[in-house]
Amino acid sequence: MPGVRGLFIPGPTNVPDAVRRAVDVPMEDQRAPDLPAFTLPLFEDVKKVFKSRTGQAFLFPSSGTGGWEAALTNTLSPGDKVLAARFGQFSHLWIDMCIRLGFEVDVVDAPWGEGVPVDIFAARLKADRHHKIKAVLVPHNETATGVTSDIAGVRKALDEADHPALLFADGVSSIASIDFRMEDWRVDIAVSGSQKGFMMPAGLAILCVSQKALAQAQDAQSRRCYFDFADMARVNKDGYFPYTPPTHMLRGLRASLDLLFAEGLEHVFQRHHRLAEAVRQAVSAWGLKLCAAAPHWQSDTVSAIYLPDGFDSNAFVRHAYKAYGLSLGVGLSKVAGRVFRIGHLGDLNELMVLTALSGVELTLRDQGVPFTAGSGVAAAIEHFHRTQPAQLAKA
Ligand code: PLP
Repeated sequence: MPGVRGLFIPGPTNVPDAVRRAVDVPMEDQRAPDLPAFTLPLFEDVKKVFKSRTGQAFLFPSSGTGGWEAALTNTLSPGDKVLAARFGQFSHLWIDMCIRLGFEVDVVDAPWGEGVPVDIFAARLKADRHHKIKAVLVPHNETATGVTSDIAGVRKALDEADHPALLFADGVSSIASIDFRMEDWRVDIAVSGSQKGFMMPAGLAILCVSQKALAQAQDAQSRRCYFDFADMARVNKDGYFPYTPPTHMLRGLRASLDLLFAEGLEHVFQRHHRLAEAVRQAVSAWGLKLCAAAPHWQSDTVSAIYLPDGFDSNAFVRHAYKAYGLSLGVGLSKVAGRVFRIGHLGDLNELMVLTALSGVELTLRDQGVPFTAGSGVAAAIEHFHRTQPAQLAKA
């Protein structure tokens, strides 16, 4: 297919040229005497994206799923109880991992399209007088449904119950795109991955861990080896790794952080919000519905969109790919065949969003979905025009 293909899945995301060039370097000596001068500031700078001053960053050659495992096995002992809500494929998979690793999970099932039920969490935490719950799991952004949860609300529930459980957040599809405040929310472990907001290839689990969680890790009895925080911390302290690090990915991460800091994190978050809002305006103009059940849950990184009854979203996504080289996300698990997803995160601008929206419109038209061609694109254009940064707006 000639021309550029459109990658609008919610990760992996488009990799900016600066990051691609940074990754495309000769292999280097992982024990070189000058490596720490590069890695030590890198570890510190990663923490800035999590908004953590006192935590410790860990970079594991892995993906986000490995980060989940690291969080659980480093801090919990077999049979420990965790509190978690299930309202999408990724919250489901993290719970499934907990069960397979031998933890007891107090699962709160919530409708797919809603976020963490903070009130129910608050009640469970208050009722847990003997502090059997050792960790509370929160998917900050459920990528399957396009729902962002209220981590500050969960922190408040923990505080009001005077509960000492650790707070874990899955920020795989939010961190570096949506505001995340590890220190303010006193999150104990936040997990992310390289291939979404960090705009890199897949291959790094990026974590930030509080001092409280690190202290707890000393007594946690779960079996672990590769993902052991203590092994990693001991060698990281001097700027090295306990096993061969993917140095090209570390170079890529440096370039990614440089881009994020040059734009300014707050601006990155605002940009994501503005682009996401354009997608939402388009969805509304098409007469379609988001999976996110209320505005406060709408995600700024991914929109899951229901097709009208009678249309198969798998066929829809397949057609977009085959006919136009446009990659959209499929619906997963409970919403498979019913929703398609537009990933709007990472290295993204207005024109790219308009490309995605016009590709969706072409596909809607081809699939016979009733809507007015051009309506979504027009709504997005109006939104972009109305919200143009002041210095660009024409009088
Ligand atoms: N958590 C969320 C919210 C995700 O979106 C994903 C992947 O898309 C994961 C965890 C799993 O991460 P990975 O695929 O990098 O292992």
